[in-house]
Amino acid sequence: MRGLARGCAIDSRDRWVEDNEQNFRECYCPGCPTYDECMKAGGEKLYCARQTSKCDIVRRGCECGECSVAIRSRLSLNYYCQDGPARF
Ligand code: SF4
Ligand code: SF4
Repeated sequence: MRGLARGCAIDSRDRWVEDNEQNFRECYCPGCPTYDECMKAGGEKLYCARQTSKCDIVRRGCECGECSVAIRSRLSLNYYCQDGPARF
């Protein structure tokens, strides 16, 4: 969803994907070509459930479509790190 300020947390009532340990573990973000040192240094991950990245995103490809969290949650978008979390 566009329109969120960078790093802005979403209201938990709007959250589509659970921010839990299993989803965090299964997230594909660290293996994706867009994921850089800034994101790694910030411990960022699971953007579909959390918030946009605090880093400057250069789109080099997104692995969300292959991720089991996305499949289980029936997500259809990409680049949650830049566009914001999945919402109802
Ligand atoms: S859909 Fe994308 S942001 Fe969400 S857990 Fe999977 S790889 Fe991470
Ligand atoms: S949301 Fe997509 S583009 Fe962003 S870090 Fe995760 S897999 Fe990569």
